[in-house]
Amino acid sequence: MNYAFPPTSIVTLDAMSSNPFPVRRIFCMGQNYAAHVQEMGGTVSAHEPFFFMKPAGAVLHNNSIFPYPSNTADLQPEVELVVALHKGGKNIPADKVNYDYIFGYAVGLDMTKRDLQRAAREKGHPWDMAKAFDHSAPCSAITPEFYSGTLSSGKIELKVNGEIRQSGDIGDMILKIPQMVNWLSNQIELFPGDLIFTGTPAGIGPVIKGDVIEATVSGLEPLIITIG
Ligand code: MN
Repeated sequence: MNYAFPPTSIVTLDAMSSNPFPVRRIFCMGQNYAAHVQEMGGTVSAHEPFFFMKPAGAVLHNNSIFPYPSNTADLQPEVELVVALHKGGKNIPADKVNYDYIFGYAVGLDMTKRDLQRAAREKGHPWDMAKAFDHSAPCSAITPEFYSGTLSSGKIELKVNGEIRQSGDIGDMILKIPQMVNWLSNQIELFPGDLIFTGTPAGIGPVIKGDVIEATVSGLEPLIITIG
């Protein structure tokens, strides 16, 4: 097939003992830990699931320099467990979400221009420019589910220059992974290659040029990014 110009190459993530994982789309869940809902000014009882998206091209590989982006004075990283799907579908029942659907897990950073996000929220505008900008989805290599087992609890942490900023347990997610896949697949058809960023625990705050960010989820490869 000839194209008007050479098509963009497929974005991939390395995966332990596997061929590279081709990324199709990135779904991100908002406010999925009670303590983070509260720090963002919300209440858990009124909480309903919501998702936003980042383009696959926003992936930034592990051990990279993250170029400090334009048009923000409040860049904030959010450490998140990432779920990588190798099977999709519509209306996937929660009790069917197992290794058939889940290829594996990774550690991700939902990089956020917090000042733009707050301004957009106040005006009722979309978040895209605050959340889906270039390199806004740093992500570690994927640990296949075969090696990690099903992840339902374990420490999730973010360190900046060696100091703990965010600390939580993925067992404290409000919407669990099977329910998340069910909810999303009731809205749209999921496909192999889709990634789900599952929300961040409390402790968000800004980073500046030169900061070294270390994001960890127990049992997975750490994600280390330097702000440049
Ligand atoms: Mn997030």
